[in-house]
Amino acid sequence: MSSSKIPYKIYLEENEIPTSWYNVRADMKNKPAPLIHPGTLQPLKFEDMQPIFCDELIRQELDNDTAYIPIPQEVLDFYKMYRPSPLTHAVFLEKLLDTPAHIYYKFEGNNTSGSHKLNSAIAQAYYAKKQGLKGVTTETGAGQWGTALSMACSYFGLDCKVYMVKVSYEQKPFRREVMRTYGANVTPSPSMDTNIGRKINEEFPGTTGSLGCAISEAVEVAVSTPGYRYELGSVLNQVLLHQSIIGLETKKACEKYDIKPDIIIGCAGGGSNLGGLISPFMGEKLRGEADYQIIAVEPASCPSFTRGKFAYDFCDTGKVCPMAKMYTLGHDFIPSANHAGGLRYHGMSSILSQLYADGLMEARAVEQTSVFEAATQFARVEGILPAPESSHAIRAAIDEALKCKETGEEKTIIFGLTGTGYFDLKAYEAYNNGTMTDYIPTEEDLAKGFAGIPDINL
Ligand SMILES: *Cc1c(COP(=O)(O)O)cnc(C)c1O
Repeated sequence: MSSSKIPYKIYLEENEIPTSWYNVRADMKNKPAPLIHPGTLQPLKFEDMQPIFCDELIRQELDNDTAYIPIPQEVLDFYKMYRPSPLTHAVFLEKLLDTPAHIYYKFEGNNTSGSHKLNSAIAQAYYAKKQGLKGVTTETGAGQWGTALSMACSYFGLDCKVYMVKVSYEQKPFRREVMRTYGANVTPSPSMDTNIGRKINEEFPGTTGSLGCAISEAVEVAVSTPGYRYELGSVLNQVLLHQSIIGLETKKACEKYDIKPDIIIGCAGGGSNLGGLISPFMGEKLRGEADYQIIAVEPASCPSFTRGKFAYDFCDTGKVCPMAKMYTLGHDFIPSANHAGGLRYHGMSSILSQLYADGLMEARAVEQTSVFEAATQFARVEGILPAPESSHAIRAAIDEALKCKETGEEKTIIFGLTGTGYFDLKAYEAYNNGTMTDYIPTEEDLAKGFAGIPDINL
């Protein structure tokens, strides 16, 4: 179809929302490495995970074979509040760049949590409720995941305890209040409610906390409180499964208007939005039915894919969680203060790590000021104020479109626009004032993180 016939915003009908998630592991020849127990180094079994996660979510975590998993009706009902999400033909951006490329973006920011994280939060809350649990615990850094899970828990009448990194709790009161409005109990971490929190407060008086410590607190509370489990918003196989709704809708919209993507781009923190967006396309690639160039974009300040090691490592600083084989900068690695809070994780999804190791996708790292330059260009012509995380994908999409301008190629580019940036205006302020900096870790900085990676060859 000629691109002039394609609407600016492509909305699927409500009855076109996919009714199953797609599990890309089913089509992977080299399966992602299993989570292992840090003590025994054995792959975790269902029973090992039962104290931490809901039963059905463990089944999804371990299932490398079922390609399509039905979405429960209750979850589909909730999805209808903000899905299908639009696939937008970025004609104004194309015009600004004067490129022959065709650019599309899938926008996941049209819900109160402001990001794609609600797609998995609602599924995770549903399985907790179905199991008859009283509540769930989690951690949150900047607050996107905590907000999404608070909304999901309030919908199903579950208790939600969020450990929020203390520095964000104090500096980002707005997200905290959204969570409390949805009935969540938000505690600054490290707190005095847990053994690990008390220990850290004692050892480091006045500490403002870290994501690793907040995870340790949330897990401790989940395993020690009857009727509670822990839930995580990225990295895990189950989260990528739920996020496949993004890619499935995108693919349906493409088929409806005969759009054939050449390049698919997403930002990568723990890998859930990118994994979800690319899953059905990657499935075709794995089955030899089509080929796509797939690009993960990460901050130069936290370059897990482009400069990390593919190894078993701890998922958290406190080492209470299992170990995953992934591209990692080391669980002790502390990235510089980049404004894209959601991209500051030291590791990466095991699924994406395996696909990257097998050469099925590529990755690039971009600097923060160039990300905000792209964000500003995009906001001015396409009308949406993008989240700093999402703007990493915008940067790469613009770069690819500019390459097309040089070569005259009419490539079709799709990127994931994961969320809005209304709670990130401090970051925009720094960019607008010209005080934003780009810190790229030196080899010495990275060596310190690598030193903490355990020496495990499995
Ligand atoms: C959390 C977050 C991300 C990064 O997480 P992934 O698991 O890598 O998708 C990206 N964008 C936004 C808006 C987020 O909130």
